[in-house]
Amino acid sequence: MRVADGVEKVEGTRVGNAYLCLGEDGVLVVDTGMPGNAGRILRAIERLDRGPRDVRVIVLTHWHPDHIGSAAALQRATGAPVAIGAFDAPVLAGHGLPARGRRAMRLILAILRIHAIEPDLVLRTGDGVGGWEVVDVPGHTAGSIALRRGDGVVITGDALLGDGHGRLRGPDPGLSLDPAQARASARSIVALGPSLVLPGHGSPVRSPRPTDPALAEPGR
Ligand SMILES: [Zn+2]
Repeated sequence: MRVADGVEKVEGTRVGNAYLCLGEDGVLVVDTGMPGNAGRILRAIERLDRGPRDVRVIVLTHWHPDHIGSAAALQRATGAPVAIGAFDAPVLAGHGLPARGRRAMRLILAILRIHAIEPDLVLRTGDGVGGWEVVDVPGHTAGSIALRRGDGVVITGDALLGDGHGRLRGPDPGLSLDPAQARASARSIVALGPSLVLPGHGSPVRSPRPTDPALAEPGR
């Protein structure tokens, strides 16, 4: 489904959203959902009259399994480099899982058969990738990143979410490494004045406002 000029949301991905950004030099894949989505993503690329070899970069907004799950399969199919934020790169590569919940996460990754991926590219605030600018939005994970385009479209991963009805949701405190920092990052994204938020879960959110209740401190 076309969600913005030159941006497709892959339909029916398991759990996390995946986006295809079309540029003059090829396709940027942003997030891959759970394992088992590679075929679906590749078919979506073909529907855009592009092929696997047109994928320039597979960008992962953060290391969580419901975003990186199909990255390895997609990399095998396309030969494209995998990129992730600097502070999430070690986790993707198989070391440096956060202490909190480490044992449970190891088990989840093993059950899902998600293996370590050595990232080819490490991204930081201000870097450019396929016509998008990288913005560090730490808190949900240490290395969470968002991608911003000149027209105000922002792909946020889990730093800022949608509810499925075009309304904003803040980052989930229970699933965030540092909930206070995650909330601050969510606010910082909205402070950029995005025209459209393309979240890691839920549907696109148009022109969110800093006063949105989803960004309020808990208990206020
Ligand atoms: Zn996440």
